[in-house]
Amino acid sequence: MVRRRRQSSSQPMYGWALAPNGRPVPIAMAERGAHGYICPICDGPMIAKKGNINQHHYAHENISNCTPEEVAHAIAGKWLVLSLGTLMVLREPAYVSWTVNSDTFSANILLDVTSIVENMQTDLGRADITLLRRDGSIRCIIVLDIERTMDTHTLARFTGYGIPVVILPADAFRSGNINLGSLLDMAEVQGGWWLLGQPEDLPDLELNPDVIRQALGEAVTYPPYRFWGPLTKMGMRENILRVNNYLLWLPENMWQLAVGGAHHKLSDDLDIVIQEWSQPDGGAIALYYVDLKGNKAVAVRRFLPGEHVHASLSAGFWTRRTKAEEIAYHLAMD
Ligand SMILES: [Zn+2]
Repeated sequence: MVRRRRQSSSQPMYGWALAPNGRPVPIAMAERGAHGYICPICDGPMIAKKGNINQHHYAHENISNCTPEEVAHAIAGKWLVLSLGTLMVLREPAYVSWTVNSDTFSANILLDVTSIVENMQTDLGRADITLLRRDGSIRCIIVLDIERTMDTHTLARFTGYGIPVVILPADAFRSGNINLGSLLDMAEVQGGWWLLGQPEDLPDLELNPDVIRQALGEAVTYPPYRFWGPLTKMGMRENILRVNNYLLWLPENMWQLAVGGAHHKLSDDLDIVIQEWSQPDGGAIALYYVDLKGNKAVAVRRFLPGEHVHASLSAGFWTRRTKAEEIAYHLAMD
């Protein structure tokens, strides 16, 4: 490794050091004023400076050229693996939370996890930390990005394949002024977050875009090949569509993720997203997401092979309607 040299005379502030037993310790968990810490890069002695004025940090006791980034990069990931591994062995949870469309979700990333691997070369690329289930499947990956070297293409590959990706706050992590709980509290979740878990207040809520697509398609498998329904509120959650035995969670960004389609703004109050799925039999399924001033409904209609795919979007109809469900009914039945 090529070490970057610093000419600056100011003392760099390090967030991380090794304890005498070789274990990585973030400065937040170091003993104030204690000596005996060791730099993982140069093996030099470090001291924990936890005064009242400066941000808490470690300092080299002798002159050194190690950068805070390389010190953190060398051992912070190992600390995270050890910390999560301890919880895993004790069967204790590690929660992350995330917000979609102002709804907050949380999940225990250690659920069903039996191994935690640093720098694993997966089929989709190298991951900083990979949490694996017993059968070898990936529950999620964790991105540390301490040196801001995360390759966005690799990240997109993981998220594109629906792997949940937990992204840690790089600056806070590098500073060492964290513990496991505060670090995970600040994490972002991207990719297949819906695979991490169900909301506790509504455990049957369907968040998986694949299942949402499947449920909407199944709704029009049999005659009369039409479905419509309002998005309702259950408990604290809004935008829920009941389809057969499913409760689909369909805020507009979820609809875009699962179904997609183009916006048609029919008036100041009325916006309809329309998607069309070609079917293997030559027919098509038309899907409508109706938003009338925040009152929402969904319509699905299957057109058989040879039927003309159409929707009645004439202005005269909309102006008299006050409920999205009426408009959805019209689109499904017309
Ligand atoms: Zn050093």
